Order: sequence, then structure tokens, then C-alpha cells
Amino acid sequence: MDHLKSLIREVPDFPKPGINFFDITTLLKDAGGLKAVIDGLAGHYAGKGIQTVAGIEARGFIFAPAVAHVLGAGFVPIRKPKKLPAETERVEYALEYGTDVVEIHRDAVEPGQKVLIVDDVLATGGTASAAARLVEKLGGKVAGLGFVIELDFLHGSDKLAGRDVYSLIHY
Ligand code: AMP
Repeated sequence: MDHLKSLIREVPDFPKPGINFFDITTLLKDAGGLKAVIDGLAGHYAGKGIQTVAGIEARGFIFAPAVAHVLGAGFVPIRKPKKLPAETERVEYALEYGTDVVEIHRDAVEPGQKVLIVDDVLATGGTASAAARLVEKLGGKVAGLGFVIELDFLHGSDKLAGRDVYSLIHY
């Protein structure tokens, strides 16, 4: 995983002062790095009966469909508000300042369906925890949450306690 770490670019003070941004574009352009990430995430969840992989907008969309393809599952998008055209379900969650919302199509997940949620970075865990509640609102079972990067010092996994959380790279 040190090799994968070396492919991730850290950009200080982006998008605002004090944020150290983990840029995965440098990992994506490396053929071996991209393969290792997709195989790593899919490998962890192989044989667990995943039927749907839900990707979180925007960078979750890069990884989730490829993981779904390897697992033989479908892909559904979890989006920012007012992007999805048909009937949606929504979950609002707290940010440091204010609130944010994630939405999913009402017919994206069937009751009892086993769903894997995928995103690029687990930071404070607010987004991923809202995504999990969203899937559960539709009656789906959150079989796991997979991330390329987890920022351990932000303790995002505390918000996902009791869930199968798997991250390839830890900082
Ligand atoms: P959070 O809800 O705090 O866990 O934030 C997760 C979302 O914000 C993910 O979709 C990430 O893409 C993005 N994110 C948060 N912090 C960073 C960071 N330091 N570098 C890159 N992306 C980040």
C-alpha cells in the first residue's frame, strides 16, 4: 500500500486554507495503481453477496462502477440535491457549518438488497453515514462501505460503528 500512497498527490490548502487535499487523479492515471485499487476494493467484498454498488458523487462515481463490474453487481448513484430526475429519497446531515443533503432514486434499491457504498475518501464520515441511512430508508441492507483513503485522525469510522468499513490506504 506504500506504493499506492506514493501515487496519491497531497495538495495543501485546497480548496481552502488548512485543508490538505488528497488528489487521486495521479493514482487514476497509473494503470497498475488503478487496477490495484479496483481489485483491492472488489476483493474485500467478493463472495459477500453484494447486488448493488452505490457510488457517492462525485469521486465515488469513478470507483463504484468498476468495483460493481468486478463483483457482477449493478451501480447506482448517490447524488447532491436536485440532480436526479425521477422520484428521490433524501437524507440531510450536519457539516461543520450548516447542512448538506444526499439523494437517491426511490427505485434504485429494492428492500433487502445488499448494497456496498463506495467513495474515494472517508474524512469525518458525515457523507458516508448519510449515504448508509439513505440506502436503509429504501429498505436496502448496507453490506459494507469501501474507501480508497481513510483519514484516521478525523475518526470518520466512529460514525459508521458496527458497519463493515474497509479502506485501502490510511493516513
Ligand atoms: P466527510 O463527509 O467529511 O467524510 O467527507 C467526505 C467527502 O469529502 C468525500 O466525498 C471526499 O471526496 C471529500 N473529502 C473530504 N476531505 C477530503 C480531503 N482531505 N481530500 C480529498 N477529499 C476529501
